[in-house]
Order: sequence, then structure tokens, then C-alpha cells
Amino acid sequence: MTVGCVPKGRLTDFVCHICRGRQLIGVRQKEPGFVEFAELDSPDELVLDYVSTPLPPKAFIYPPIETLVRMRLGTAPQVETVLDETPRAIVGVHPCDLHALAQLDVILGDHYGDPHYFARRQSALLVGVDCLPDEHCFCGQVGTARAEGKCDVFLTDVGLAYLVECWSDEGREAVEGFGGLEEVTPAVLEAARARMERKLAGIEPRLSAPVEMLPMLLDGHQKASEWEDVAAKCVSCGACNLVCPTCNCFDVYDEVALSLTEAERKRRWDGCMLREFTLVAGGEVFREGKPDRLRHRMQRKYNYLYVRYGSPFCTGCGRCARSCPAGIHPVSAVNQVTASES
Ligand code: SF4
Ligand code: SF4
Repeated sequence: MTVGCVPKGRLTDFVCHICRGRQLIGVRQKEPGFVEFAELDSPDELVLDYVSTPLPPKAFIYPPIETLVRMRLGTAPQVETVLDETPRAIVGVHPCDLHALAQLDVILGDHYGDPHYFARRQSALLVGVDCLPDEHCFCGQVGTARAEGKCDVFLTDVGLAYLVECWSDEGREAVEGFGGLEEVTPAVLEAARARMERKLAGIEPRLSAPVEMLPMLLDGHQKASEWEDVAAKCVSCGACNLVCPTCNCFDVYDEVALSLTEAERKRRWDGCMLREFTLVAGGEVFREGKPDRLRHRMQRKYNYLYVRYGSPFCTGCGRCARSCPAGIHPVSAVNQVTASES
């Protein structure tokens, strides 16, 4: 629901208002040319006009390392489940990253709800913002350019102001009482429409087949040998996994205090592009080669999880392409393999 326009000169007041009582997470400029999601000391630090961040906002809902359980020995041993329910407002999330969180909701809610993820997720107010692409973005190819309903409040840059839409009760409550909203005119709606058109027109990487066809096409390319050319330059650094907003694999380990009376069970992000990911007891590695690991990653993004959950598990954010030292872009990889004879 469109509720009004906030003039850019009142943006700081608006953010203060909607984030009241919550920890403010947003994009800030860490150094020239480098922006990141971080806890902000003040809304003045907030940057809304950015292309991408190295790490997605996922890191504040599903952190790179987290404690799951604390254990204490003694006459009455204690086991405490750690749940982080800090109220947060995550401001300035792009549509692709909103889709990514919706996809994590699905996969981490399947079979059983991951209580650690959902504790943070349900206590977060999500404020989205529209964006324009760079040469790596391909949201328009995988259906994530628009994010209707996937956050609480959404802002669209319409020149001198932001168009404000509320897509949840929490969003409406957060905005309620802000006195600085201006009327939405036909010119504002036209500016928002033109901005979306500009965004879609600016997307360069093109899948050579409609995304709906990828599961079927990729099914025909299951042999690691078919992925050798694409994987030739891969150095198995795992950066593509770590920056991906939809990757959700993790490793669980215990940290035991020297006293042997206290311990923490933790989890940390893991990545299927790392050889050790499939190292199992006895020394067996069941995806030993780089082509096999890259094949698995691409099949998971555009085939296995797509078939299982009904949407590709890639949002077209382009982070993996931006961070890959070998210059591997998922669109080029998929185009190359699906164009080859199986
Ligand atoms: S696979 Fe790459 S482009 Fe797709 S969501 Fe992950 S990081 Fe973004
Ligand atoms: S970021 Fe590039 S080089 Fe590193 S593991 Fe991924 S595909 Fe390979």
C-alpha cells in the first residue's frame, strides 16, 4: 500500500521514526568506493543509493558464526539454547536481497523451523529500497527485480523524494505517526514506473534460455566433464559461496573451555566450492574435482532447489561474479554448459 512520499531532506527523521526502539542496520560507506551493511551509530550514516555490498544483509539474520547452545558442567549440568531476538531494523535492502531472505525462509523452515534463524528473522523490520543495476546484476532474468510484499516498508527513489509503500502491519505501525509525508501525485507514480523501466533496461547478463527451462536443460548436463571448461580457471576459494545471499550451508563444531567445564556449540558458514566441504570420515571426498563442485553449485541454484521449492535459488545479485578472482559469472557458466552437447 502506497502511503506517501518522504522528501529526501526529511529522510533522516523518517528513518529515526520508523526504527525507534530498534538496532539500526544499514549500508554505510566504510571507505571511498566501499559500502557495507553494518550497525549504524546514526541514520546520518545511511547510504541508500548504492549498487551492491560485498556481503548481503543475510549476515544480520544468519550470521557467519553464531553460538547455538551453551553448556556448563557441574552438579546440575546446564544446556542453554541461544536465541537472538534483538529488535533490528535493516534499512536499504535491495529487491534481490529481499527475495533471498524469502528463499531462506522457505529452505530453513522446511522440515523443521531453524529456531536461531527465525528468532532473528521475526524480530527484524525490513526496509527495502529500489536500485539500478551494474554490469553483473541479472535480477530481471530470474524474477527478482520487484519485491512486492517481501518487506515491511519499501522506498523508491523518485527524484527529490522517496515513494513510501507499506507491505505489512509492522511496516504500517512503524510509519504511523510520521508527520512529514507528502501526497503521492501522478508525477511521482510515473517517476517510480520510469525508474523500474530504467532498471530492467540496464540489465546486461542474459540467460540464453528462459529461466523456467533451466532445470530441464541442466538435467542433461550432470557429468563433471561437461563443466571442465567453465571450471578451468576456478581456484576453489569459496568466495562465491560466502557472498551469496541464498547459500545456507554450515558446519557445526564445539568450542570447549580449557577448564573442560564449559563449552559452546557453534555454526559457521560453509561452502560447496571448498574441497573440504565433502570430506567425510575415512578421508573420502565425494566432489574431489573443481568441475564437479561447480556443477553441483549451479545445479543446486538453477535446478535442484528450483524444482523442489518453485523458484531459482539465485537472485541475480551478481555478488559471486563481482568477487570471483577467476571472473566466473553464473550466467556465462550456465549459457556455456547448456549450449554444449551433453
Ligand atoms: S549465485 Fe551469485 S548471483 Fe546468484 S544469488 Fe548467489 S551470489 Fe547472487
Ligand atoms: S569465487 Fe570463483 S574461483 Fe572462487 S570458488 Fe567460486 S567460482 Fe571458483
